[in-house]
Amino acid sequence: MVKNIATARNDFPILNQQINGEPLTYLDNAATTQKPQVVIDALTHYYETDNANIHRGVYTLAERATEAYEGVRQQVANFINAQTDEVIFTRGTTTSLNWVALGFARQLLQPNDEIIITVMEHHSNLVPWQQVALQTGAKLRYIEIDEHGELDLTQYGELLNPKTKFVAFTHVSNVLGTINPVKQMTKMAHDVGAYVVIDGAQAVGHFSVDMTDLDCDFYAFSGHKVYGPTGIGVLYGKRELLAEMNPVEFGGEMINLVERQTTDFKPAPAKFEAGTMPIAQAIGLGAALDYLTSLGWSAIEEHEQSLVTAAYQQLNKIDGLTIYGPAAGPTRSALITFNLNGVHPHDVATVLDTQGVAVRAGHHCAQPLMQTLGVSATTRASFGLYNNLADVERLIAALVETKEFFQ
Ligand code: PLP
Repeated sequence: MVKNIATARNDFPILNQQINGEPLTYLDNAATTQKPQVVIDALTHYYETDNANIHRGVYTLAERATEAYEGVRQQVANFINAQTDEVIFTRGTTTSLNWVALGFARQLLQPNDEIIITVMEHHSNLVPWQQVALQTGAKLRYIEIDEHGELDLTQYGELLNPKTKFVAFTHVSNVLGTINPVKQMTKMAHDVGAYVVIDGAQAVGHFSVDMTDLDCDFYAFSGHKVYGPTGIGVLYGKRELLAEMNPVEFGGEMINLVERQTTDFKPAPAKFEAGTMPIAQAIGLGAALDYLTSLGWSAIEEHEQSLVTAAYQQLNKIDGLTIYGPAAGPTRSALITFNLNGVHPHDVATVLDTQGVAVRAGHHCAQPLMQTLGVSATTRASFGLYNNLADVERLIAALVETKEFFQ
């Protein structure tokens, strides 16, 4: 059934409540998204009617659970335009990125090889590369940002050289909101023979992503940021690279044959999915992807862009408020990070909460970026498909009040 973005808010039961006597204005979607009733129902339905462990059973329930779980793999593959055996289920973006760094990059990197990442990376796409560099003797290089919070592609071009073995970057910055030119960056990396790893945590769910078009080697995202459950994520990898990649976790289900001294692993994706996987969560993710598809990308993108544009314009009018990252437009996604002069971001978020407005304050797991920006923390308002202009108005009104309170 085709859903309408204008009434999408009604599909999310959690939003229908008051916080501190005010309507809940949930603007922390970059941290996690709320779940539509169809996702909650899919989880309940699974536990009420189909729950069994997958793959190993020959009885009807186990077959139903296996079919549902593997069906979602097919669905994810269609959703990101990849092949089914190129989709690995993980715990989330963090796990996906760690598996690439530890299971693939670590075995290929030699001392003095180079890894390029960006200063805007979330720690999930930074610390694994830093640790792999420390373990292998590879060097970690950083792409810097310009004054608009966009990546300096000239400097990136200068960093790339035949020693570059991996380039890892975020599709969308969780702090600056910058949408990076990932297709162009992938091509530039491939031109020097480097592998490309993309952190899609802040992209998937906001606009469509296409693995075949991007041509990246690996791509990671989390179910809980795309209106699905926690505990489930995706790692996409090109088939021939997954064949070379080693599992990082070992156990049941991922093997063909275990002997006393050796093990023969199954091919991907089973090779990576050791032990009992988050089956219900995968099924919930399937329901979330169906839900997004029923709304349609153009409706979601247009709606979120209208919110971020309105918020940007109004925030810009508040004296003493600094916005980080590009102006609203084609290179800014649906989030805005800012600081109110002289007020600590935690105080801003605490006062906003008294008005029912939920925003995030802190370093956003991007400490090197905070250092680059010359701040220790910021406040972030991030939008989802169920937000509306009334949410923007409440954010602005609460901020104006916060400012007056501290002056
Ligand atoms: N990468 C980015 C850009 C993020 O914003 C986040 C979460 O905020 C992550 C990675 C980590 O995602 P998860 O905690 O779901 O593994």
